[in-house]
Amino acid sequence: MLSPILLLACANVSDIEDGRQLNSVVTVKDWFTSAYLLPTDAGPVMIDAGYRSRNMTGALADQGVDPADVVGVLLTHGHTDHIGAVEIYTNAQLYALPDEQGILDEESSGEVVIDVPLTDGEILTIGQHSIEVIGVPGHTPGSAVFLIDGVVLMGDTALVTKDGTIEPPDEKYSEDPEEAEASLKVLAEALQSRSDEIDWIAPAHSGPTAGVDALVEFAGL
Ligand SMILES: [Zn+2]
Repeated sequence: MLSPILLLACANVSDIEDGRQLNSVVTVKDWFTSAYLLPTDAGPVMIDAGYRSRNMTGALADQGVDPADVVGVLLTHGHTDHIGAVEIYTNAQLYALPDEQGILDEESSGEVVIDVPLTDGEILTIGQHSIEVIGVPGHTPGSAVFLIDGVVLMGDTALVTKDGTIEPPDEKYSEDPEEAEASLKVLAEALQSRSDEIDWIAPAHSGPTAGVDALVEFAGL
């Protein structure tokens, strides 16, 4: 699985800035992948685990966070560059859509198991934060995006290019590229109607874009 990931790093995407704060969440960069840290009253929460354990431990130390203190890891999906470092969160519950367990089994040889199954449309409360779960099947069967305090954490459902446009992931990386693009358009339509709530669209493999305009334009709405 390593070679497609390396190719992804070469795409014409906007830069990821480690430590960048987007409302309540902080970007935690490892190479070409970002996970996001959400500090909460109940303890730190991660959106995706990050790729490499040593690098993620270092990047979290820069934020003053010990991975052992993380209480929850919310997965956008189960590809290895999003779950590779999951072992460092020794006390965290793992949250994901149940449809992702198959990918997790493949990518982790059965070692990574969902503790808290999520539901499409669910509003999760952790500490003082409400987290909306939106299913976006296609890149993987159980891909999810999370809306937290005006920031939509997109996982691999979209990329922001250096020109500021939105693109779906390269189709060779998605289980079902047509479904992935359809899901992204459904998401664009849903977020367009709530544009006053959305400050940032934040993919895992590029920098973010402000507001919903780029996503709406991509969807041709
Ligand atoms: Zn992926």
